[in-house]
Amino acid sequence: MTLTSWVDVPDGSDFPIQNLPHGVFRDERGTRCGVAIGDSTVDLAAAERAGLFRSTDLDGDTFATDSLNAFIAQGRSVWVAVREALTDFLSADNADAPDFSARHDIVIDHPVEMVMPVTVGDYVDFYSSEHHATNLGRMFRPDGDALLPNWKHLPVGYHGRAGTVVVSGTPISRPSGQRRGPDGPTFGPSEKLDIELEVGFITGNANSLGESVPVASAEDHIFGMCLVNDWSARDIQAWEYVPLGPFLGKSFATTISPWIVTLDALAPFRVPAPEQNPSPLPYLADPAPAGVDISLSVDLAPAGGTPSRITETSFKTMYWTMAQQLAHATVNGATATAGDLFASGTVSGPTDAERGSLIEITWNGRDPIDFGDGVRRTFLEDGDTVVLRGRCDAPGEVGIGFGTCEGTVTG
Ligand code: MN
Repeated sequence: MTLTSWVDVPDGSDFPIQNLPHGVFRDERGTRCGVAIGDSTVDLAAAERAGLFRSTDLDGDTFATDSLNAFIAQGRSVWVAVREALTDFLSADNADAPDFSARHDIVIDHPVEMVMPVTVGDYVDFYSSEHHATNLGRMFRPDGDALLPNWKHLPVGYHGRAGTVVVSGTPISRPSGQRRGPDGPTFGPSEKLDIELEVGFITGNANSLGESVPVASAEDHIFGMCLVNDWSARDIQAWEYVPLGPFLGKSFATTISPWIVTLDALAPFRVPAPEQNPSPLPYLADPAPAGVDISLSVDLAPAGGTPSRITETSFKTMYWTMAQQLAHATVNGATATAGDLFASGTVSGPTDAERGSLIEITWNGRDPIDFGDGVRRTFLEDGDTVVLRGRCDAPGEVGIGFGTCEGTVTG
């Protein structure tokens, strides 16, 4: 029988009892950790005070704080035990629960403000969609191989700026910087401000300095996933990126969705990853490489206008898996610590309708998107709003989602 909750969950909600994503919220009573169910929020600090997690190994006062890092640092066995306790508490079979809730104010029905769910210590952005890498290769190296020689041998990535990872809803200031001009570089506001539709994962304390995380056990250290919009200033990026990679064209802001969907909630939506040819080196070889079937979309509302869907794609086509990304990122002995963010890279699918960035959708400005009434876009203009969504559905399963990852460009 399908598990349901005594908390009201609207049909098609991203947050049924099967999901239970973690985040950090704020209301008139302060900032603390929570879990989403339907349109309500479980106040985990109140739940902890009420003794809901007494049977687990959870450290005291884990949730009465403004980030999930302390919880995530306690490791998988605690994540699982807390999820089980919450599932039991919220289950419709728990006949005493509504009274319990009323006594302890555990389930909050009023709207809350979501804040950054984690303190991001380190942020890595990969480049793991073969279709995205191929599109960019075709655009910028039309006479060469679309993929560079290393691409199928390692998950290409770079270290991003952790301090400018912001939560959904944060306004995005258009960055200024150097751009290539016909008579040398010019300086000014970016004229090619773009989005990147990505999905990220958040790690626990995966390893000690000098150790590496084996690919076979890498997922034990992944707490959950969120949506990521890796805002990109293409003109700044194009001038600065050789030879050391992206810098100011990326570091001005990266938006994440506020709810972290756990790998346990995503278990019913795992799928085999695409076949890898050539086989990766042994440290990246996974006997059962697994992706996640997440349907992704982007809506763009031009300034003063209504939103239109500009792309739909799936995370299941990603070439490199999360386990391979984490194994690779730590193979040199670098640490992955609780709250670190590893983003997938732009998610593009095999067809033209599945491109995850404006530079691909408009082919670097050649093919503008027509929103009607004379409104067209190649890249983002001031006042434009971008909304990313992610949803998992499978036969016989209750679907779950990621909520939204939103941002509006300001001048
Ligand atoms: Mn990116």
